[in-house]
Amino acid sequence: MSARVARDPECLFCRIVAGELPSDRVHEDDAIVAMRDIAPRAPTHILILPREHIPSAADLTVGDGPLLGAMFETAAMLATREGIGERGYRVVTNVGQWGGQSVDHLHFHLMGGRAFTWPPG
Ligand code: AMP
Repeated sequence: MSARVARDPECLFCRIVAGELPSDRVHEDDAIVAMRDIAPRAPTHILILPREHIPSAADLTVGDGPLLGAMFETAAMLATREGIGERGYRVVTNVGQWGGQSVDHLHFHLMGGRAFTWPPG
């Protein structure tokens, strides 16, 4: 677990949240930003992230419950809006190198519009 800071000036997603770098935002509120992934792996591929710099799911505590609930609620809301809610979709978060995490700022991938295999590669 890493020390928690509200913002890391070196972090790509912190810079996007701050508006220093562009993004294709589909939703934002006081706690959360959602944007289209720059390299989509599915017809719908949206990233849902907290404004706060939380490095990964490994840094979450029970106190983050309301934030996590809001992130999942946002995923469901966006899935309905994108028209993928009925057939189903995937919400995934990668942790660390072997988990496939490339940006060290917690984010959910909301992916849909095609069928996914299990287990993932
Ligand atoms: P992960 O590899 O799980 O950490 O996910 C990071 C995701 O961020 C990848 O799917 C990237 O395609 C995506 N990504 C990287 N840079 C940007 C950006 N500037 N805007 C939107 N998505 C990005």
